[in-house]
Amino acid sequence: MAGLHERIDTSTAHSARVYDYILGGKDHYVVDAEAGDAMCRHWPALPVHMKENRRFMHRAGRFLAQERGVRQFLDIGTGLPTAPNLHEVVQEVAPESRVVYVDNDPIVLAHARALLQGASEGATAYVDADMHEPEAILGSPQFRALIDLDEPVGLMIIGVLHFILPPDDRRLVQRLLDPLPSGSYLAMTIGTGDFAPGEVGRVAEEYTRQGMPMALRDLRTATSFFDGMEPVEPGVTQVHTWRPGPEQDGVDGRAIAMYGAVARKV
Ligand code: SAH
Repeated sequence: MAGLHERIDTSTAHSARVYDYILGGKDHYVVDAEAGDAMCRHWPALPVHMKENRRFMHRAGRFLAQERGVRQFLDIGTGLPTAPNLHEVVQEVAPESRVVYVDNDPIVLAHARALLQGASEGATAYVDADMHEPEAILGSPQFRALIDLDEPVGLMIIGVLHFILPPDDRRLVQRLLDPLPSGSYLAMTIGTGDFAPGEVGRVAEEYTRQGMPMALRDLRTATSFFDGMEPVEPGVTQVHTWRPGPEQDGVDGRAIAMYGAVARKV
């Protein structure tokens, strides 16, 4: 595998860095900022949408730790560290919680190594892998060391499924769920054009044009990813209406192009 520096391409935009730029972070290049600006011109609500996606991750993680007692998590498409990160959310509930982070962006890797250190009681690890190669994730020493397959696991696929195109999408999610014991959970967000089709369609086209092909899914398709699982109330909803807190007061549904849900493996 190429060294970290050879793998960092500053000439094309990358999804982790565009997301960081739009969320107000500082770990991106000019090309990512330009791409982010272009996307926000297509749809000015994009920062609200992304923030609510991130907040869904916080609520879903806290819910699984607090209400369902989940103590180990596999997080696919982690993104650049943005506080609070998943391990901070779940270790606040239970310090012994363990999180395995997975991303395929070398910049995320560099930051994750430095920053994603958990509380001493719990543990975090980072796997440099692509969701298209689930065997590399499940077979990694980090996954094997931290995840006990006799205990429930929280599989988090947040803000990444829109980069996983059909027809492989379903099989890849299923492959990650397969080894997890019954009583495990899938928490996932799924990009959709259902609420602002024109604008969100143009954002998806812009991502695709910039080398990051994107798939949007309607409610039926989004729901079908959870087939055979036991849905957690309220089922598949726009992310801001999934067990909302005070922060979600006043969020305009037209600004949210993401479904979210949590479901239990039976
Ligand atoms: N889960 C975080 C970050 C979402 S941004 C959150 O919701 O806040 C999307 C992330 O998915 C980026 O970090 C990007 O590098 C990663 N990603 C995109 N395609 C991927 C793939 N095929 N395999 C692994 N990670 C991927």
